[in-house]
Amino acid sequence: MIEITNKENCSGCSSCANICPKKCITMQMDEEGFLYPKVNKLDCINCNLCEHSCPILNPIPEEKHNQKAFLIQNKDEKIRKESTSGGAFTAIASYILSRGGVVFGACFDESYVVRHIYVEQKKNLEKFRNSKYVQSEIGDTFIKAKYFLDSGRMVCFSGTPCQIEGLKSYLGKEYRNLITVDLICRAVPSPLLWKKYLDMKKDSIGNNINKVMFRDKYYGYKYSTMTICSDKKQYHAGVESDQWLRAFFTEICDRPSCYQCKFKKRYRISDFTIWDCFTVDAFNKEMDDDKGTTRMITQSAKGEKILDLIKHEIVCYPIDLDKSINGVKEMFYSVEKNHKREQFVLDMQNMDGKNLLNKYFPETFKVKLERSVRLISYQLGIYKQMKKIAKKFLKK
Ligand SMILES: Cc1cc2nc3c(=O)[nH]c(=O)nc-3n(C[C@H](O)[C@H](O)[C@H](O)COP(=O)(O)OP(=O)(O)OC[C@H]3O[C@@H](n4cnc5c(N)ncnc54)[C@H](O)[C@@H]3O)c2cc1C
Ligand code: SF4
Ligand code: SF4
Ligand code: SF4
Repeated sequence: MIEITNKENCSGCSSCANICPKKCITMQMDEEGFLYPKVNKLDCINCNLCEHSCPILNPIPEEKHNQKAFLIQNKDEKIRKESTSGGAFTAIASYILSRGGVVFGACFDESYVVRHIYVEQKKNLEKFRNSKYVQSEIGDTFIKAKYFLDSGRMVCFSGTPCQIEGLKSYLGKEYRNLITVDLICRAVPSPLLWKKYLDMKKDSIGNNINKVMFRDKYYGYKYSTMTICSDKKQYHAGVESDQWLRAFFTEICDRPSCYQCKFKKRYRISDFTIWDCFTVDAFNKEMDDDKGTTRMITQSAKGEKILDLIKHEIVCYPIDLDKSINGVKEMFYSVEKNHKREQFVLDMQNMDGKNLLNKYFPETFKVKLERSVRLISYQLGIYKQMKKIAKKFLKK
């Protein structure tokens, strides 16, 4: 049976909990806020299905196959604005729904906990749009996906690479009616920290939160912001000043498995791999309109065929494959653990969000200055040039 002795060896994909025939595995939160399987040994019949369905214990070997790379922009401007990048995911998902299928993805529940659910109507796809930079709870969605697959419906399942490999291990066989979309995934931060951060924000902008976007295009794609709105106030702050984004991009509170990720590779078992493209001008200057572009690799013939069928909904520009992945560190390498992580997570257990985040990510003069420089250069239309200069300056 599954027993977690080293937390780096569990990505929390929930495949084991979904497959257990005795339902004796529950996913339980540890003190850092991440879910791990816990077996009720009294009910366990030692069938070992849980071990056999674990994508970390049974790694799927990376196999070279045909790939093609593209830049994608959804032609629907509203969809593109609401999406993290170019809205490629919604274009794929809409096609599946138009064929009577079901789409699984990550959304917020009423308490802003991130969970996987499924939708059957196009209007509900908006729940999945925009990346939630926190680990999503899979729940029993693998069981539900299998049910729909076995009943012959098309199923599109989107998620982090560990979730997609977890789903495939759980299913244990290929389904022609399954389409999987994985992301280039940097890492996932602690859901407990997310709760503390959101409680802190509620204190300043009001309890009735009605919108959260981790990568809002309030100013534009390249200077995207964390956006939180309540019925009273709006909050927008970029990566230099928002304390959640600062925590995320300094690798201080990620899941232990993300520091030793077993799923980072070029050749994947998904049908589509999608990620950001802030450097769109390096591929196609005309597409560089600061409204968002998704980079996409088709990983299978099924993926290529679906891309062909959705071409009327998107701008689709083929790009050189090697160039598309050149310098994309998050595709190949795990993030490096912040040396303050251990102390941070200890403090997280004893401090409220405000004191914790002000201790590690204070609003210093430098932060305020950077925020002003970013905003002004954005308004003057010289953001890209300023970023280049700043990068050169920081390297020296
Ligand atoms: C945790 C995380 C880390 C990422 N790291 C990087 C990175 O380092 N570099 C990079 O270029 N891109 C990264 N991305 C991917 C990127 O943010 C966009 O998702 C991608 O560009 C697709 O954009 P889109 O406009 O086509 O789709 P969108 O409309 O933005 O679609 C969002 C898709 O992501 C899924 N999703 C959202 N949140 C989660 C979550 N918490 N867990 C699982 N699935 C989720 C939804 O189900 C949906 O399929 C990351 C995404 C996530 C969720
Ligand atoms: S060995 Fe079988 S019964 Fe026991 S926890 Fe694993 S899947 Fe469940
Ligand atoms: S990686 Fe997934 S299947 Fe393996 S132990 Fe963790 S939750 Fe279970
Ligand atoms: S970095 Fe790896 S282990 Fe962590 S969420 Fe992403 S795919 Fe899963």
